[in-house]
Amino acid sequence: MSGAANDLATDARPAGIEARIARMAQLAAEVGQCESCPRLVSWRRQVARERRAAFAEEVYWGRPVPGFGDSAARVLLLGLAPAAHGANRTGRMFTGDRSGDFLFAALWRTGFANQPTSVGRGDGLELRGAFISAAVRCAPPDNRPSPQERDRCAQWSVRELELLQDVRLVVCLGAFAWRAAWEMRLRWAGARRRVAPPRFAHGAEQIDPEGLERFSMLGCFHPSQQNTFTGRLTEPMIDGVLERARVLAGLPRAGRRAR
Ligand code: SF4
Repeated sequence: MSGAANDLATDARPAGIEARIARMAQLAAEVGQCESCPRLVSWRRQVARERRAAFAEEVYWGRPVPGFGDSAARVLLLGLAPAAHGANRTGRMFTGDRSGDFLFAALWRTGFANQPTSVGRGDGLELRGAFISAAVRCAPPDNRPSPQERDRCAQWSVRELELLQDVRLVVCLGAFAWRAAWEMRLRWAGARRRVAPPRFAHGAEQIDPEGLERFSMLGCFHPSQQNTFTGRLTEPMIDGVLERARVLAGLPRAGRRAR
C-alpha cells in the first residue's frame, strides 16, 4: 500500500471512489518526493541515518509522510508534523510513538478505527470516516516547523482536500494545526488577505453552516506526551471531541468502546 488510503470496500461508498483512491495513491507518491524545504529535508535524512538506539535495526522512512485513512472520510484529523522517530520512522502519520498510541486508541473507542493500535504500515489498521494528515509533512527539529514551512506544505493539504471530497470537518490537533486549517479555509473561500484565526481552545468550534468555506473546524489539544502525561488531555476529553466530530460531520453515533 502506498500509505495514502485504506482502500476499503464498504457498503455505501460514494460514486467514483475507486478513481479517488487511485488519485490519492498518486498524490502520496508525489508528496514522498517533495524536497521544497531544505532545512527539513536535511533533518529528516539525518534522523533516518543516525536513528535512535531502540530502532537501530530498522530502516527509517526518512521522507515526507503522506496522509492516511478513508478516501471517503468526512472527518480530517490534522496534526502538526511527523515525529522524528515516529512517523518519520514508520512512514505513517502518528504511527510508532506515544502520541499515536493515545490517538489511535481514542479513534478505536469512538468508532473511527478497526483496532486500537497503530504499529506500522501493513498492521491491518483501517480508518472509517476519518483521514489523518499533518500541516507539515516532514519531521522538523524540536517539533517546530516555521510558518514558512507550514505555508509551503499547504500545497499538499489543499490537494489532499480536493480529493477528499466528503470532508466536512477538520479536527485540529493543537494550535499549529488550527492555524493551518484556518489558512486553508481562507484560501478555499478565495480571501484576498490574511485574517487572524479565532482563538484555539480544546473543543472550540468554527462552524461553516452553508459549506462556503468547505469545512468546519473543531479544536482538540494535541495528544503529545507533554499534554497526556500531565493530564492536560485525558481520554474522556479526546473521546468527547471525537464524538462531537461524528455529530458535526453527520456520522452515526458509534457508542463508545471500552478495552
Ligand atoms: S515539509 Fe512539505 S513542502 Fe516542505 S519538503 Fe516536506 S513535504 Fe515538501
